[in-house]
Amino acid sequence: MSHMYNLAIIGAGPSGIATAVESYLLGVRDIIILEKDQNHNSTIRKYYKDNKRVDKDWKGQKVELEGKIYFVDGTKESTLDFFDEILNNHSVELRTHTEVQNIKKRDGYFEIFIAGESINAKYVVVTIGRMGKPNKPDYKIPQGVKDKVAFTLDNCGIGEKILVVGGGDSAIEYAIDLSAKNEVAICYRRETFRRANPTNQRDIANAIMHKEVEPILGVDINSLEDENGRVKVIFSEREADIYDRVIYAIGGTTPSAFLASSGIKEEDGKPSHDENYETNIEGLFVAGDITQESGGSIALGLNHGYAIAKHIQEKKL
Ligand SMILES: Cc1cc2nc3c(=O)[nH]c(=O)nc-3n(C[C@H](O)[C@H](O)[C@H](O)COP(=O)(O)OP(=O)(O)OC[C@H]3O[C@@H](n4cnc5c(N)ncnc54)[C@H](O)[C@@H]3O)c2cc1C
Repeated sequence: MSHMYNLAIIGAGPSGIATAVESYLLGVRDIIILEKDQNHNSTIRKYYKDNKRVDKDWKGQKVELEGKIYFVDGTKESTLDFFDEILNNHSVELRTHTEVQNIKKRDGYFEIFIAGESINAKYVVVTIGRMGKPNKPDYKIPQGVKDKVAFTLDNCGIGEKILVVGGGDSAIEYAIDLSAKNEVAICYRRETFRRANPTNQRDIANAIMHKEVEPILGVDINSLEDENGRVKVIFSEREADIYDRVIYAIGGTTPSAFLASSGIKEEDGKPSHDENYETNIEGLFVAGDITQESGGSIALGLNHGYAIAKHIQEKKL
């Protein structure tokens, strides 16, 4: 049989890296992290705008860090540097360009399937997040404007008329950032931005007061149309308007197909697990955003990693 890792972690986001490093610090050796992208932390690289402020208490959720990893407020860049550093300083193998298809429990170990081969491990932690599939609207995006409708800020230009859809922290940060160089409106189905953290609530209130961002609140979108290559947005209780670009920032979805193909049960749209984040399959854990209905935070993921590391170490690996 090929090499048996003590611990394999699927996904090199904050929760995966924390699980690996906290386990290492507790004495576990022979740990591998499998990451489908070309580098760790693809959610941060893809969805965070450059120079984004990174809040430890994201979405206003105050989190006391329980493990040994000391994480503080910073920026996108300082956060990526921080994860680079903790990976470099601990002997954890990171294998990139490695998308895991599913996991099967064998007799006392796990077989992890990737294209054309498999890897064996005694314990497995799934930390693949929810942003692999960002939430999409339930109406159709017309073919002719597909390249004008996006879920990240990639390809945004200057001097465009842009509609940001969503009312959480990400939508607010996108709208404020874009408003420096574009004409921006933000459309949210609720009347207020109460879900956002206090800093973002204050920033969006200021931007609206100074007419830098147009608020379209308490309004749903019924459909999109192709208006000669621009996006015509049909609102529920307001006249339609035409935009150069529409950006959705409405969170991500549970990777149900992955969970089902690995035999992990779901309950209320999340993988079911006990207080140690162990799933219905003994030795197979879930951590981070994947365990949260509407997304978690970096600090929450770090704590999940620590809890799992402690539990695995107590099992005397
Ligand atoms: C725009 C935006 C702004 C945010 N701002 C903040 C903030 O300021 N502060 C904060 O604390 N939180 C913030 N968050 C939330 C934070 O990014 C997440 O809570 C955190 O990234 C979750 O970590 P995770 O490790 O659970 O998942 P992720 O970070 O999503 O990592 C999952 C990793 O798994 C990999 N993966 C997926 N499928 C597979 C597979 N099949 N095989 C192998 N690898 C796979 C992915 O490529 C990815 O690298 C923000 C989120 C967004 C979208």
